[in-house]
Amino acid sequence: MASPVTPQFTGARRRLLDELRAKGISDLAVLRALDLTPRHQFVPTGVRHRAYEDAPLPIGSGQTISQPFVHAMYLQTLKLEGGEKVLEVGTGSGYQTVLLAHLCREVYSIERIRPLLETARDAITACGVTNVSLLCGDGTYGWPEFAPFDAILVGAGAPSVPQPLVAQLAMGGRLIVPIGGRDDQRLVEFTRTETGTERRDLSPVRFVPLVGEHGWDES
Ligand code: SAH
Repeated sequence: MASPVTPQFTGARRRLLDELRAKGISDLAVLRALDLTPRHQFVPTGVRHRAYEDAPLPIGSGQTISQPFVHAMYLQTLKLEGGEKVLEVGTGSGYQTVLLAHLCREVYSIERIRPLLETARDAITACGVTNVSLLCGDGTYGWPEFAPFDAILVGAGAPSVPQPLVAQLAMGGRLIVPIGGRDDQRLVEFTRTETGTERRDLSPVRFVPLVGEHGWDES
């Protein structure tokens, strides 16, 4: 089996890191996680030659792996310190799952489309990370058995904030979720406080729809 850090892609990955630095990613822990994670192993073979472009790519089942800059911005916003328990909704390719695994203590990740989850599981395992738990299901319910979470990241766009996710935040914990229409959203950060939640609006984004009980209807 090929090593997760196939040398032929090392140069391309370094060039992507330079591009992300130029676009404003300066957090050293985030850059290290990106350097350690072989994105080419999280995309279908047909688009593997494009794995280190700063672009979203199709991963099958009508879904996409997000643009690396979007992952990096998400993670830079979170400022993880290494000891956190994090929930990810929308495993997709599993790429961000592995970035998170390098940046915090435990990662819990939920994906509703089983074939994607199984492909992601293989890619995650091949990276050698052992602090990831995966679940197939509707992530808008969160994962109450392992709550509370220090951070919750939603990788798909919601019409409004899924309340079960807010309820599963630890005190001071942060939820980052794209909110808006089916095609265009704004990234919003909610921080749990003693008195409720504080909201901070971040950048405009475009994610695939969050489909589920506290998201969009399937259509
Ligand atoms: N960060 C991932 C994003 C993948 S796209 C990556 O870069 O690979 C978003 C994913 O969210 C899709 O795989 C989609 O199937 C999934 N998704 C949408 N609604 C969901 C829900 N309610 N629960 C779990 N996963 C969901």
